[in-house]
Amino acid sequence: MRTATLAPLILLVAASPAVSQPAQDSLLLRPMHYDLDVHLDLDHQRMEASVRVRLRNDNEMPVRTAALLLYRLLDVRRVGDASGARRDFSQRVVTFADFSKLQANQILIPLAPALAPGHEITLELQYGGHLLGYAETGMLYVQDRIDTTYTLLREDTYAYPQPGYPSQALNRRAGLPEYSYTARITVPSSHMVANGGALVQRQEPGATVSYRYRSLKPSWRMDFAVARFTRLTQGDLTVFHLREDSAGARRILDAMALTLTTYTRWFGALRAPSPFAVIEIPDGWGSQADATSILQSASAFRDARRTSELYHEISHLWNVPSSETPSPRWDEGLATFLEDVTSDSLTGTATTDSSAMRVSRWLAGRVATDGALRTVPPNEYGTREMTGFSYWVGALMFYGLYRIVGHETFCRIIGEYYRRYATGGGGSAALVRVSNDVSPVDLTRYFDDWLFSPKWSRVVANAKRPEDLYAQYRRTSREPGDDVETAVAPTARSAAKR
Ligand SMILES: [Zn+2]
Repeated sequence: MRTATLAPLILLVAASPAVSQPAQDSLLLRPMHYDLDVHLDLDHQRMEASVRVRLRNDNEMPVRTAALLLYRLLDVRRVGDASGARRDFSQRVVTFADFSKLQANQILIPLAPALAPGHEITLELQYGGHLLGYAETGMLYVQDRIDTTYTLLREDTYAYPQPGYPSQALNRRAGLPEYSYTARITVPSSHMVANGGALVQRQEPGATVSYRYRSLKPSWRMDFAVARFTRLTQGDLTVFHLREDSAGARRILDAMALTLTTYTRWFGALRAPSPFAVIEIPDGWGSQADATSILQSASAFRDARRTSELYHEISHLWNVPSSETPSPRWDEGLATFLEDVTSDSLTGTATTDSSAMRVSRWLAGRVATDGALRTVPPNEYGTREMTGFSYWVGALMFYGLYRIVGHETFCRIIGEYYRRYATGGGGSAALVRVSNDVSPVDLTRYFDDWLFSPKWSRVVANAKRPEDLYAQYRRTSREPGDDVETAVAPTARSAAKR
């Protein structure tokens, strides 16, 4: 199951918006598109940047001030609008109201006339300075800096301006953004820029080299890593690795390729080419996932047991957009459950049932002390800011489904759901509809207990053995489970060991 390495992501994902009426002085705009141009002076540990950001007013009232945050040592020199005309602004290093160790540069740009609901504005900011991370705040993984060894520009340090106020509570209320981006990052020609988007241009005019990337999917973050990387590719898969970890990088690339082949066999082909990149980061800098890439710590390059994290991320390629806002995120439960099934299938382990029991016991403990788990149905975890539990309750829900219908039917359900809803978007009701269409077992009561009510909490509280989680829902003449793919195909086994 998912290790703690993605905790920063999980915390952010859990921070979904609550519904309440914000005051005028706390209205945030939503970023729709970024055009970023960054020059990195690694020797002097500085950056100079200009960014055009298109912002939309999704609020129900006009917004009079664009409020942005930047890293505390990044200084704004100029603000302009789409026509290039200069705009007034103020900037001040401020301390977060609800996180007194966290400081950022708050940029306030008056909008006159006020930006009406549904309208957009493009602003251009020129800024520069240093980046020294936020480890001193207790966010130990945020060790981001600009230097010749390793440079990281990401959302966590406000390395580029993001709508926000110095209040974590206010910023959470805005939810995760979804935007597109292009970025040109210029570095010394001894270095390479890694990003999960498509590399559209590489220009080397002399002692420097510019990498231009374009996002492939709607993104909630942009990550740019700069080091003396080596780039390995196979089809749509890319690994950016440090020189000393070339053996691990090859193993990761092979594992990703095998996983992609396996899921294509299980769930059917992806609708379009789906590039995916793994970017190595130093240990302790916090592994994180984006829409088309993951930042993976160096230790995972040296530890074959961490391959299950790749199974998790690659499985997300088969997710569909959610029509539920905010999403209850049971797709995280599916990805978490698939880590075990994939591991058992590809490497011959037998972890699926024992993992489910471990999660069940852990959840039983939480159920005893957390009243929300006993009252909120999992399909409402998005609106109730409980998606941190979607990884675990969702994993058990898909585990039970798998054991009730068996491997082949389970794969047909996931594949059919993807095929029907990949373009239009799906949701909890659509998942149940597809499951009942595909499965010979009527799954209505199962999903009523595990998705649409908190009854699952009583099931885990009473579960002594794995079958206690699902056996009561098996109401069919056919006994499923005998087609579970636990045997390891010789070709898969040899490929995994290559
Ligand atoms: Zn995930």
